[in-house]
Amino acid sequence: MKTFKIGGVHPAENKLTAEVPSRPAAIPAQAVFSMYQHIGSPAKPVVKKGDVVKVGTLLAEADGFVSAPIYSSVSGTVSKVDAIVDASGYRRPAIIVDVQGDEWEEEIDRSTDLVTLADRPELTSEDIVARVKKAGIVGMGGATFPTHVKLTPPPGSKADCVVINGVECEPYLTADHRLMLEKTDEVLVGISLIMKAVKVEKAYVGIENNKPDAIARMQEKAARYPGIEIVPLKVKYPQGGEKQLIQAITGREVPPPPGLPIQVGVVVQNVGTAFAIYEAVMKNKPLVERMITVTGKPLARPANLWARIGTPMKALIDECGGMPEDCGKVIGGGPMMGKALMNLDVPVCKGSSGLLLMNDKESRRAAIQPCIRCAKCVGACPMGLEPYLLATASAFKKWDVVEANDIVSCIECGSCQFTCPSNRPMLDNIRIGKSTVMALIRARNAKK
Ligand code: SF4
Ligand code: SF4
Repeated sequence: MKTFKIGGVHPAENKLTAEVPSRPAAIPAQAVFSMYQHIGSPAKPVVKKGDVVKVGTLLAEADGFVSAPIYSSVSGTVSKVDAIVDASGYRRPAIIVDVQGDEWEEEIDRSTDLVTLADRPELTSEDIVARVKKAGIVGMGGATFPTHVKLTPPPGSKADCVVINGVECEPYLTADHRLMLEKTDEVLVGISLIMKAVKVEKAYVGIENNKPDAIARMQEKAARYPGIEIVPLKVKYPQGGEKQLIQAITGREVPPPPGLPIQVGVVVQNVGTAFAIYEAVMKNKPLVERMITVTGKPLARPANLWARIGTPMKALIDECGGMPEDCGKVIGGGPMMGKALMNLDVPVCKGSSGLLLMNDKESRRAAIQPCIRCAKCVGACPMGLEPYLLATASAFKKWDVVEANDIVSCIECGSCQFTCPSNRPMLDNIRIGKSTVMALIRARNAKK
């Protein structure tokens, strides 16, 4: 069975919600829309205090090509254009809407009728990209890169296939798994739209072998969608890393940063993004809600919830039985790549794939011991880096050393930290080192 070549680890899967069908979360009393829900320039507000909005009303426009607009996910009145502390821990511009009722913009098709490419033969590649851009679609796997940019290969580049990420290798998270089971046709039409947008005849959907029901359902239905092949993959973290997935499925190697998948003829999208593209193009629906896994051993009723963007995380925890007394940590995302939240008013954003609660015991960090030079972290790194060196040099602010040792290639998967017998906090230090070096590189390039 296919997988990537070097490194990788096997954390406990803990997919507590794999068999829990999704359900809609309650509409919050107040929704909070951060202007930083994507990579690139933040969105620019186009509403002011007192404006009345519906679901699907434009709140903020894209500011440049690498940016994305933000739409209201609720109906009500804009109560503030202010700043909030978002999941990053920074104070950032945001629009706050007090909710009244649930009115939608008329042009959004809310029916569940399936619309296929055969129903819309007039759609061109340019139409699809334009609708994706207008709807504010970004990478739903957590990367949040504006999708229209990925669907517009730079001049001189040409894709020959699309790779769809249905891996969901992060422990605990099951939203993509449920989406493939519950919205199979919509995801497959979304993939067909991506293929048409980038003008290729072939798409591969990588799914880890721990989701046999999703593999079977997708294989059965994909038979009716020309050019889409489902590829079962070995269970190994981080199989869902873009470079790892491309290598596992096509055998191709993406060059180191700033190298991109398009340089090896591939465009990668997540299954959640494919579904959002279906809704944007076929239902005229901007990105206003998403599925999020709310999970953890101390939680009474872990669930897969359809949450409106802007819903406070606390409301989702309440939906799942409330905050457990022994909760020690709340993480936005999964346990390997997610980040601890500083407060529970943080809203659901376009890239929020999971919310994980850990009890006191699980969340306590083991005592850090000296490095014993065992090299386990080196063997686990899927990018072939030397994590102990990157982490130590970052801790000592040796930015020239970490840059020379290719810290920008780190995908922040946490495999090194997971495998370390001395409990070294490698990922924390490497993240600081990587973001510092990237800022230094940007500053150098700006001077050129
Ligand atoms: S976090 Fe970075 S250094 Fe550590 S294993 Fe992953 S890619 Fe390698
Ligand atoms: S795994 Fe931990 S103890 Fe082993 S070499 Fe890496 S940092 Fe050192």
